Amino acid sequence: MRRATAANSVPFETSEACLRTRHAWLGLLAAASIAALAVTAVLSPAASAPLPREKPASLIAANALSRLEERRVTTTRILPSTDIGDLVSSGGERPVAEAAQSRFAAAPLPQPAPRERAETAAGAAPVARETASAIPANVSPSAVAKDLFGAMRSPAPLAARSIGSYAKGCVAGATALAVDGPSWQVMRLSRNRNWGHPELIDMLQRLAADAPSLGWNGLLVGDLAQPRGGPMTSGHASHQIGLDADIWLTPMPDRTLTRDERESMSAVSMLKGPSNLKDADRGVDPSKWSDARARLIRRAAQDPRVARIFAHPGIKQALCRFETGDRSWLRKVRPWWGHHYHFHVRIACPAGSVGCKDQNPPPPGDGCGKELAWWLSDEPWVPKKPAKPSKPAKKKHMTLAALPDACTQVLVAR
Ligand SMILES: [Zn+2]
Repeated sequence: MRRATAANSVPFETSEACLRTRHAWLGLLAAASIAALAVTAVLSPAASAPLPREKPASLIAANALSRLEERRVTTTRILPSTDIGDLVSSGGERPVAEAAQSRFAAAPLPQPAPRERAETAAGAAPVARETASAIPANVSPSAVAKDLFGAMRSPAPLAARSIGSYAKGCVAGATALAVDGPSWQVMRLSRNRNWGHPELIDMLQRLAADAPSLGWNGLLVGDLAQPRGGPMTSGHASHQIGLDADIWLTPMPDRTLTRDERESMSAVSMLKGPSNLKDADRGVDPSKWSDARARLIRRAAQDPRVARIFAHPGIKQALCRFETGDRSWLRKVRPWWGHHYHFHVRIACPAGSVGCKDQNPPPPGDGCGKELAWWLSDEPWVPKKPAKPSKPAKKKHMTLAALPDACTQVLVAR
């Protein structure tokens, strides 16, 4: 049975453009003070600069695209509580060379309600029954989930089902978005992240089919999910349950890109400049932004399956200015860090996905007023005082045990 919204399910987003960011901001909800904004800077081990660093608003290094950093803020003053993320530790990659890598504090993870657990274990008949006895002894509940899921090369041959929440779950029966379609091309093929719940694949195909009529040649598609979802070996903290997709804001060329080009091509930021400087203009650069992009995002937001779209506040501002008619779709477009050379589309839990946890809907309204003004101010971007010199934060990796029980079955299904 499809669950209603989990009260504590919150959006949190990853942002590729924050790759260079040395700080992650973690908003802590002060239990007693709902009016307080508590932001804690979390430094990467290599960090010494006080400010988040962004790529200049030019090109994003090709391979940098996947090395994301997530940031999240809880600010009950402006952002509604429904917009607080499901906190997870970074799915960031390990290599030492990646000095830009950042770390995130892990906040306590919301525990599934007892009923959810029961549903997950008992309700997911196709998953549980088929594989209950197939769990190899060497799969330890304390194993790092991203290593296990990141090693999966093929989907779990089970009925399609998204399990858990966007940043803590997995997907059974995922299908692949073809690497080439009539009006889309999948980028970064080496990552094998073009997998998702069939509903996500369908949504993307329809959006791609609509693109030419919107003045947009076609979609360059970034990461969806790993074949069985789960935490990723690098990058995003969400994209775990096959319901998230990144779409580039770079137009698709008229020709089919080679495999190499799909690895090395860069996406272009839509912004005038870095957002992390005091008094920065965080708006889009009119020479890069276009109404076709606005129409594309609008079309995505108008798909009833789409629950949220994450985009840089400068892009949200451009969308707010663009729409002169029905503004209801703007409610789904949520400002977030990064996301200025791609936007992130998230669909709601598909029918039949037992144990899939929707987020609360975005707050009412188009979000073009006070909330956007806050996002465009220095506050989310510029730390008030320099952060303390960092002690390397203990990186906590999500274990298999932290995921819904059914994800173990997804992992081992053959
Ligand atoms: Zn994304």
